[in-house]
Amino acid sequence: MVHSYEAVIGLECHAQLLTNSKLFCSCSTKFGEAPNINTCPVCLGLPGALPVLNRIAVGMAVKAALGLNCRLNVESQWARKNYFYPDLPKGYQISQYDRPLAQHGFIEIFVNGTPKRIGVQRIHMEEDAGKSLHEGFQDSGRNTYLDFNRSGVPLIEIVSEPDIRSSAEAYDYLARLKQILEFLEVCDGNMEEGSLRCDANASVRRVGEQKLGTRTELKNINSFRFVQKAIDYEISRQIEVLEGGGRVTQETRLWNSSEERTVSMRSKEEAHDYRYFPDPDLPLLTVDAEWIQTTRRSMPELPEARRHRFIKEYALSEYDAGVLTSTRSLADFFEQTAQLSGQAKIGANWIMGDLLRFYKDSNTDLKDLSKSPVSPKMLAEMIALVEKGTISGKIAKTVMEEMYKTGKEPQKIIEEQGLVQISDTGEIEKIVDKVIEDHPKSVEQYRAGKTGTLGFFVGQVMKSTGGRANPQTVNDLLRKKLAG
Ligand code: ADP
Ligand code: MG
Ligand code: ZN
Repeated sequence: MVHSYEAVIGLECHAQLLTNSKLFCSCSTKFGEAPNINTCPVCLGLPGALPVLNRIAVGMAVKAALGLNCRLNVESQWARKNYFYPDLPKGYQISQYDRPLAQHGFIEIFVNGTPKRIGVQRIHMEEDAGKSLHEGFQDSGRNTYLDFNRSGVPLIEIVSEPDIRSSAEAYDYLARLKQILEFLEVCDGNMEEGSLRCDANASVRRVGEQKLGTRTELKNINSFRFVQKAIDYEISRQIEVLEGGGRVTQETRLWNSSEERTVSMRSKEEAHDYRYFPDPDLPLLTVDAEWIQTTRRSMPELPEARRHRFIKEYALSEYDAGVLTSTRSLADFFEQTAQLSGQAKIGANWIMGDLLRFYKDSNTDLKDLSKSPVSPKMLAEMIALVEKGTISGKIAKTVMEEMYKTGKEPQKIIEEQGLVQISDTGEIEKIVDKVIEDHPKSVEQYRAGKTGTLGFFVGQVMKSTGGRANPQTVNDLLRKKLAG
C-alpha cells in the first residue's frame, strides 16, 4: 500500500552584506578583482592580527533583522567555528552561535492566495571564507588555487523554521527573502556571484504524523529553480526509501545539476564538530534600543506594504501591483512615472507591456532599471503626447521602442521620423476617398450588409499613412462615406 506523505523543509540562507569593506578589516569587498588583491594580515589570518568590527555591516544586519520581523538581542556574541580547510587559514571562522543577533521572525508567503508565515528561527552574522579553485583532473595532475579576496566578507545567515511544506513554498520563501533584502539595500541577491546562497533541509513524514522525519541537508544549489528541483528529487527519493521498508539516513547531500539528482556527501557520523566557543578577541556585540529605533525610522517601505499602497493609491490590480513591486527600482520607476504623468494605469501598462519585454528580450537585469535608457520622465512625456493626440497609441509603440534603443527624447524621435499624427480631416478625407475608389468590390459588400469589413478599410487608410492617421477620424469618415 502506498501511504501519503507530507514534506517538511527548512532553509538556511547566506546573504552577503553590501558593505564596501570586510567585517573585521578595512579590505575592499569588490567582486571580480584579481586574486588576493583585497587582503591584509587580518583576513589572511596571520598570527597576532586582531579583528576590528565594521559597524556598517552590523547596521545592515540589524536592518535585515527588522525587515524579516525578528526580535533583536541587545547583546549577541561572536563565536569561533573551528574547522580545517585550506581556504580558512585561521583554522576558524568568526560566527555567532548560541547568542545570535536576532531571533523569532517570519517571512510571509502566499499559498493559493492565502498568506502563510514561515518562521525565521535566527539571523546571525559571520565572516565568509576564501575560495578554492580546482583545476585539472585527479589522474592528470591537479592544481588548487586559493583566493582570499572573499575571506572576511560580511554575511548574515538566515535560518528558517521547518515550516515549509513544498518545493513551491520554498521557492516563494526565497523569492520573498531576496526581494526584502534588495528593498533594504543590504544584499544584491545575486546567486550567480554567490551573494545569496542557500542550503535546504528536507524530510518527509506520513500525513497526520506530528514527529518530524529524519532530514537530509542539500548543499551546492546555486539557483532558486535548482532549490525547487533538488527538494522535489529529495522528497521522492525519501518516500521511495520509506515505502521500500528502509530508513532515511541523516546526511549531507550535494545537488548535481547536470544529472538533476542529489548524491550523498557525508553522513551524520562524519559531520563536523565545530567546537564553538566565544571569540576572546571580540567583546559582546551590543545593539541598544536607540540603534534599533534609528534603524527602524530609516527603513524604506517594504514590498508587501508598497504593493498594498499601489493597489489603494493608484487603483492597480493585485497582479499589476505585485509585478511592479517585484524590485525596488521597478517600483520607483512606476511611481515616478505615475506621479509625473498623472496616469498610473496607462504608465503601468507601458512599463509592464513594453519596457519589461524589452528587458526580457535583451536579457538585461531589471536591477539596472535606474540606468534604463527610457526614464520615467520620458515615458510620462510620451503618455502626454498620446493624450494630446500628437501621436496615436500605435505610433507610441514605435516611439517607445525607439526610446529604449536610442535613449532619445520622445519629442525628438517624433520630429526626426515624422511621426506626428495626421488629424487634419481634409487630408484624411482624401485618403479615405482614394481607398474607397480603389476597392469597389469591398464597398459593394459593405453596402450589402457586410459591415464587418470596416476594419479592412481602416487598415488600408492606416497603411497608406504609415499608421499616422487619427484612428477616430478615420473611423468616422469611413462610416459616413461607406453608408453612401
Ligand atoms: P544544524 O545546526 O544542523 O544546521 P538546525 O537545527 O539549526 O540544524 O536546523 C537547520 C535547518 O534545518 C533549519 O532551517 C530547520 O528548520 C531545518 N530542519 C530541522 N529539522 C528538520 C526536519 N526534520 N526536516 C526538515 N527540516 C528541518
Ligand atoms: Mg545546517
Ligand atoms: Zn583584510
